[in-house]
Amino acid sequence: AGTFTPNAAREDVPVLHRTVNGHPLVWLDNAATTQKPRQVIEALGTYYSSANSNIHRGAHTMAREATEAYEAARAKVAEFLGAPSPDGVIFVRGTTEAVNLVAQSWGRTHLGPGDDILVPVLEHHSDIVPWQQIAAERRARVVPVPLLPDGTIDQNAYADLLSHRTQLVAISHASNVLGTISPVREMTALAHRYGARVLVDGAQAVAHLPVDVTALDADFYAFSGHKIFGPTGIGALWAKPEVLATMQPWQGGGNMIESVEFGRTVFAPAPHRFEAGTGHIGGAVGLLAALEWFSGFGREAVAAYETALTRYAMAALGAVPGLEVLGPVAERVGVLTFSLPGHTPADVASRLDGEGIAVRAGHHCAQPALRHYGLDSATRASLALYNTPEDVDRLVSSLLGLTQQEPAA
Ligand code: PMP
Repeated sequence: AGTFTPNAAREDVPVLHRTVNGHPLVWLDNAATTQKPRQVIEALGTYYSSANSNIHRGAHTMAREATEAYEAARAKVAEFLGAPSPDGVIFVRGTTEAVNLVAQSWGRTHLGPGDDILVPVLEHHSDIVPWQQIAAERRARVVPVPLLPDGTIDQNAYADLLSHRTQLVAISHASNVLGTISPVREMTALAHRYGARVLVDGAQAVAHLPVDVTALDADFYAFSGHKIFGPTGIGALWAKPEVLATMQPWQGGGNMIESVEFGRTVFAPAPHRFEAGTGHIGGAVGLLAALEWFSGFGREAVAAYETALTRYAMAALGAVPGLEVLGPVAERVGVLTFSLPGHTPADVASRLDGEGIAVRAGHHCAQPALRHYGLDSATRASLALYNTPEDVDRLVSSLLGLTQQEPAA
């Protein structure tokens, strides 16, 4: 892999060149959403100004073109994930909808009384709540898999909790609050020994780690377009076609049927049977542009750059008195959630915002993960390929200013 320097990416992303509160913007809220390169913005503009049409139904040129664009995006997602065929790719609104689709559609058929769904304590609420909902309906159980003190998943506990009652394991590839990279391949191999399926939440992984669903042997892989430089409102669920073949549609409507009679409706094959109604066609076009843009830098090279930047940031943050970064020290993505004794996360974020630095304060939709550290709120700075060591320096000098101005109580 070649080397990657962030300036090429920065030049493509217009919003990074604005100021906020009189300072050049430092965008460190990438785990919430990423900024968009002009390639994505232009793809959306071009689609709506010259090619907008519904798909799959009209027998006219633009309907055909829109269908081709939508299916090209599906093929790109498959290629991007290392999936053998586009037939396993279902367009959804994002990771949350993908998990709900699996919970409702797969869960209804495959979960029953006494079955277990294993969910690590570090999961995002969107990888906890849909399982609680379907478990209540099917009288199954959601079983938390504990964490070790460093924020990694306790693999011994995981091995002990797995049993022939386990139907599903739902794991984040990378955590949105602790930065933990889960050993997905190993956890999946173990789950499969018990005949359990594995869903991987890739929301925080796709823009930061090379992903290959075939090598991971995951049954489901979900991600959101907006966290990988694409538009909001579009994402994808990939599933093994043999698993999709065991699932009933979760929503009914147009576009997902073969034929409808009042006596009997025949559903279209996957993936279309899982995409009722008009999809986010423009969003898919934007997602294709985002994946092309991102892939163009070389995913290995970007990951290597981000690993080095994360290491730099961990060391630099260590210079702020009292500051503690949650999660593992090594083997992590650039999600840097920290506590700063004597300063509430809301105060920290507001101080940084005053200097043009965007971070997030709160529970990060991962309350059990924060509780593991005895916290209910924390500040999170999260990196992406266009961030630089200078961004990290601005963050650290602003935090140092805060701690010097008001010594911790
Ligand atoms: N899982 C993880 C790990 C996330 O970080 C997020 C977004 N913060 C989600 C799921 C939910 O993604 P979305 O809101 O795009 O559906």
